[in-house]
Amino acid sequence: MPAGDLELVKLTKHYGETVAVDGIDLRVPSGTYCCLLGPSGCGKSSTLRMIAGHENASDGDIILSSTNITALPPAARGTAMMFQSYALFPHLNIRDNVAFSLKMKGMSKPERYAKADQMLALVDMLARAERLPSQLSGGQQQRAALARALITNPKILLLDEPLSALDPFLRSRMRAELKRFQKELGISFIHVTHSQEEAMALADTIVVMSNARIEQAGTPREIFNAPRTEFVARFMGGHNIIADGDKKIAVRADKVRLEKLNGSKPLHQAVVNGIEYQGTIVSIGLASEQHGELSAALPEAEFYANPLSAGDVVSVSWTPADAHELAG
Ligand code: ADP
Ligand code: MG
Repeated sequence: MPAGDLELVKLTKHYGETVAVDGIDLRVPSGTYCCLLGPSGCGKSSTLRMIAGHENASDGDIILSSTNITALPPAARGTAMMFQSYALFPHLNIRDNVAFSLKMKGMSKPERYAKADQMLALVDMLARAERLPSQLSGGQQQRAALARALITNPKILLLDEPLSALDPFLRSRMRAELKRFQKELGISFIHVTHSQEEAMALADTIVVMSNARIEQAGTPREIFNAPRTEFVARFMGGHNIIADGDKKIAVRADKVRLEKLNGSKPLHQAVVNGIEYQGTIVSIGLASEQHGELSAALPEAEFYANPLSAGDVVSVSWTPADAHELAG
């Protein structure tokens, strides 16, 4: 197994009667950005906390760089967890916050400050090393929290919804920075999120979880273009799920073609019931007697060349190659 590779083998977590993680198998190659994606309660945080050692595994194994770390204490695993920025010690300046774990290990002051400054330089916070957390913006606190997690030289950085407390502007900026840090450091990041947009923007591998299990793991394009199940197609969004004979198919909203009806009875017919301008595209809600709610996404220029209004009856079609069959 290459150094830095993480492998989960039949990893399981019970809390009393609750099965939070149900025997999952997963391999995260070294140096990759992996997002655990799924709705609230599906077992993402439990998985992450077991990898970190903040929670015992009920069953199964966690292997990192060919070492079984399942029973090791958190500090001996080669993992680090980035906590939310509000977990910084309020009475310590940023340098002391970042150097804290090295102080606990008994490292001398000059040595740990030198390492802390190296980490602060990496996240572009060296100029603010002497400030208290309260004297920093949300984004700066986040970067300090990142430096504090990275100072132990982890093989893997674990992040649980790290962007959820930030406003949308800061969130997308911090998202880009996380991706850059991961590339620069060359270690794996495992990032828990319930946002499919965040996962698609960041991940080399998206692991979609539902009900304590892995529904599908793959690259963002694999997951978006070829969702394996109805759950994945619905959760990723942007797909129509259609019963087609005895099969169930997914058709991406941007692959749907609409034409105003001119007499002939189409294969699929729907009524326009909502139009949302979204900038690059116009999203059109459709009600179909046969298929329920559908949606189409048309490029802005295409829509306005032939505008539709609520109440219009349209034919709905797609190229067979754009219909993707779902597993039952
Ligand atoms: P997620 O992070 O995907 O929202 P969690 O891993 O936090 O999911 O939770 C998975 C399941 O385990 C949920 O049903 C949750 O209620 C339960 N759970 C999580 N932590 C505990 C705990 N400490 N004690 C009991 N049940 C828990
Ligand atoms: Mg969680």
